[in-house]
Amino acid sequence: MIEFIEVDKKYPNGTMALENINLTIEDGEFVAVIGLSGAGKSTLIRCVNRMHEISNGKLVVDGVEVAALKGKEVRKFRRKIGMIFQSFNLVTRTTVIKNVLVSFVPEMPFWRKLLGVYTQEQKREALMALDQVGILDKAYARVDQLSGGQQQRVALARTLAQNPAILLADEPVASLDPVTAKQVMDDFKHINQEMKMTVIMNIHHVELALEYANRIIGISKGQVVYDGAASEVNQDI
Ligand code: ADP
Ligand code: ADP
Repeated sequence: MIEFIEVDKKYPNGTMALENINLTIEDGEFVAVIGLSGAGKSTLIRCVNRMHEISNGKLVVDGVEVAALKGKEVRKFRRKIGMIFQSFNLVTRTTVIKNVLVSFVPEMPFWRKLLGVYTQEQKREALMALDQVGILDKAYARVDQLSGGQQQRVALARTLAQNPAILLADEPVASLDPVTAKQVMDDFKHINQEMKMTVIMNIHHVELALEYANRIIGISKGQVVYDGAASEVNQDI
């Protein structure tokens, strides 16, 4: 469960990106966060894994008060939370499977991870993650030879290999064409339903949000202005 209690986020330059956020997100929900550019969507989800620190209030994730975590605890905490970005954030000049295997050795410097000494078990898990998102046949292809949709699936597989309880996604389909975007959304749905992972996704594409998410949270100027079931959103206004 994720609980925002009277959370504010003020950036060092004075921008008030979030103001008095009160939200409870239960395990297994598929939440779409919608709103205009600059509304505070990115800031909201980046507070959950402490990429950004809140300024006021309380944020509790699976019983842990996020602001109270120290040093090594932060890293351990982040492993429970997967994050997917619009820009995939892959190492494009190497193979798909090496990108996924990176999940298993987070404490090593990045370049060393890519040299790769992995157990058979880790390799098996990486291949399983690729299978979950339907790109097992690309395991030994170079990332830069894949389409955008396939690359986002690699990013998803890398996150799945880490076995998180929560999956955060910041505009994961914004740079994909409409058909590919739907395929990637199907993967998120599958991960949410079959793997019972909580999904919180920023998405400016409202139709996709309504089609795939169970709950819609609307953000405007740093505040929650809508919170309800996707099935109850009336689009005729
Ligand atoms: P969204 O994801 O909805 O586009 P953001 O969370 O990125 O919105 O931004 C919310 C507000 O905070 C915007 O006014 C943005 O310019 C500002 N902002 C975002 N990141 C920073 C930062 N690192 N420093 C200062 N202001 C920021
Ligand atoms: P993305 O599209 O990957 O979410 P953004 O373009 O929103 O990234 O922001 C890129 C980086 O710049 C982020 O780290 C964000 O926090 C920061 N940022 C965004 N808006 C501002 C701002 N107004 N002032 C300072 N930093 C900002």
